[in-house]
Amino acid sequence: MDRHRNYQKELDKLIDKIQKAGIRPRLLLHACCAPCSSYVLEYLSQYFDIIIFYYNPNIDSKEEYDKRAEELRRLIGDMGLSSVELIIGEYEPEVFYQTVKGHEKDPERGERCRLCYELRLRRTAELAKSLSSEGRGIDYFCTTLSISPLKDAEALNDIGEELADELALRDGSCGEGPLGDSDFEQRSLVYLPSDFKKREGYKRSIELSREYGLYRQDYCGCVYSKRGCFEEASLQKDMQAEDVQAEERPY
Ligand code: SF4
Repeated sequence: MDRHRNYQKELDKLIDKIQKAGIRPRLLLHACCAPCSSYVLEYLSQYFDIIIFYYNPNIDSKEEYDKRAEELRRLIGDMGLSSVELIIGEYEPEVFYQTVKGHEKDPERGERCRLCYELRLRRTAELAKSLSSEGRGIDYFCTTLSISPLKDAEALNDIGEELADELALRDGSCGEGPLGDSDFEQRSLVYLPSDFKKREGYKRSIELSREYGLYRQDYCGCVYSKRGCFEEASLQKDMQAEDVQAEERPY
């Protein structure tokens, strides 16, 4: 793992190539909630045909799961993104609890969160492959999660790239990516390098949340985050670095 990568620059380079090639690749975008999706949709819908996958078994109640899903559906409509398709995943909290067993007391950004990212990204990558096998050709997948200053972008990109490798090896689907060159991975499904908090993405998501009157939850999603298991000192430091006001704290 390379801790010196600049994922935003890598994405800039990829988008530049996409534009020069005159193509609009298809992206399967995992979404955690409407506020985090707002900026990512505004940004990426300029360059990609997007299918959103809402799959978050980490959320602590069905009521909250449905509330976040409906808010996301409303946002897509209010932004006028009629070409964006929304797929709502099944609510299966038992899968989350099994996945993070033994890590219930881990701090935010610890192993529990890494397992939680992996669970959601794995299901996204598998859906991308399954949609492709139905002839719907998904070129890239990624997640909105990196927009939060509390989420570990390096971990998310590492996991995404490992999953793309794993799936390509498993089903022998290595081949030309949408750009058909060697700068990006030569396989049919590629993890989109991304760190959406860069370029003030997180601040823009707050502006858009206000503009569209979005419900902004006050905890990340799981019951452990609701109990306040995150490290307050670390959070305060990150918020200062991002110039984020207390009422605009990330989740
Ligand atoms: S704090 Fe958030 S990212 Fe971490 S395990 Fe809970 S829901 Fe998942």
